[in-house]
Amino acid sequence: MSEPDQNLRCRCKATTRDSEDVIVERDYSLWGLLYLIWGGTSTPTQVSWRCPKCADIFEVSSLEEDRIAYRT
Ligand SMILES: [Zn+2]
Repeated sequence: MSEPDQNLRCRCKATTRDSEDVIVERDYSLWGLLYLIWGGTSTPTQVSWRCPKCADIFEVSSLEEDRIAYRT
């Protein structure tokens, strides 16, 4: 009797993590940043999703699957 999982939405309800214009912010450890500067790939330690309209960060994840999905 539970509802299907719904994506979290921002304050203005316009944006979810799957929206085309969502802003993804990646946080890196110091070593991760150094790898990026050297042109390597780096897995963020945390991923945040921000709405471009209301600037609300509506979801933050440090799950491994999310960090790998948003690896640069
Ligand atoms: Zn919004």
